[in-house]
Amino acid sequence: MHDFDAARLALPGIRELQPYQAGKPIEEVERELGIKNIVKLASNENPLGVSQKVRDALAAKITGLARYPDANGFYLKQAIADKFSVKPQQVTLGNGSNDVLELLARTFVTAENEVIYAQHAFVVYPLVTKAIGATGIAVPAKDYGHDLEAMLAAVTDKTRMIFVANPNNPTGTFLSKEALEAFIARVPHHVLIVLDEAYYEYVPESERAPSLAWIEKYPNLVVSRTFSKAYGLAGIRSGYMVSHPAIADLMNRIRQPFNMNELALTASIAALQDEDFIARSVSVNRDGMAQLIAFCEQYKLPFIPSHGNFLTIEVGPQSAEMFQKLLHKGVIVRPVAGYELPNHLRVSIGLPQENDAFCNAMAEILNGQ
Ligand SMILES: *Cc1c(COP(=O)(O)O)cnc(C)c1O
Repeated sequence: MHDFDAARLALPGIRELQPYQAGKPIEEVERELGIKNIVKLASNENPLGVSQKVRDALAAKITGLARYPDANGFYLKQAIADKFSVKPQQVTLGNGSNDVLELLARTFVTAENEVIYAQHAFVVYPLVTKAIGATGIAVPAKDYGHDLEAMLAAVTDKTRMIFVANPNNPTGTFLSKEALEAFIARVPHHVLIVLDEAYYEYVPESERAPSLAWIEKYPNLVVSRTFSKAYGLAGIRSGYMVSHPAIADLMNRIRQPFNMNELALTASIAALQDEDFIARSVSVNRDGMAQLIAFCEQYKLPFIPSHGNFLTIEVGPQSAEMFQKLLHKGVIVRPVAGYELPNHLRVSIGLPQENDAFCNAMAEILNGQ
């Protein structure tokens, strides 16, 4: 037994990985610290919770759960296609958008390939890359965001995929549609461009890229979106990718047949149709962002201007200590040292009273309390 070494048997890429560090769950912090009324601003979830229309749709579905879900997600694909003027054959559904990102990588990337992403990019990109044993190329950021010129310059014959999150998490940086299209047009066709639009709904309509319409012109472009953020369904796990139908067809061959469950299908269809809820979510986010920015300006805390539902604030080299102090005052935020941002903390925008709780706790800490 003692000569058994599981790590030695595993793929080299997997041996080097660290498990994904999720935001601390409220129950865990309550249990560990023995405090109540915790405010969680750590995972960019929707502070409005689940919309009433989604709750009603879910309640009506419970009795059907003994049956397998529709393996092809016919109605949800149709709803996405109708809403965004694409064809259902372009849509791939997933157990969260992370699932479709991984599916795409497993469909196209081999251990011999290189995958490009930006410094401070979403941790799932290096994760899916290294799990395959492929080489991840992290291109140094420019003003915390993507340096598209440098990313283009990093393309080689071995490059198979480039990840671009717009807006980016955890920095909130944003690329204009003009900059983005100029970049996409120059990426060679042996490279897939993965445009991750997890925060798409928070971007004002006039600034949004017509990314799904671009797919016709740029068949190597794929776009992922999620129900985890503005739609308020992080717990149900639902996301999707829109691509050229040939890409969707290939991904469909290795997908687990029921990778989206019945409740996720049902909730997502109801959420897509609930435009009032999205409008309210965006409005709560806009006001909350103004609240946090006003606080940062009052206390002279630098922050990265954000286009998402979170603000990444520069608190200095004692950020880990500050995270702990905030935790003890009942506010969970997100340390981002793992993203090469050791002086920052990321704070998700909450309801007005939740943002107040963060500002008050932070003010006490800054005043030495
Ligand atoms: C939150 C987030 C997602 C969403 O992941 P899900 O698996 O859909 O919950 C995707 N990309 C980025 C950049 C994110 O921040």
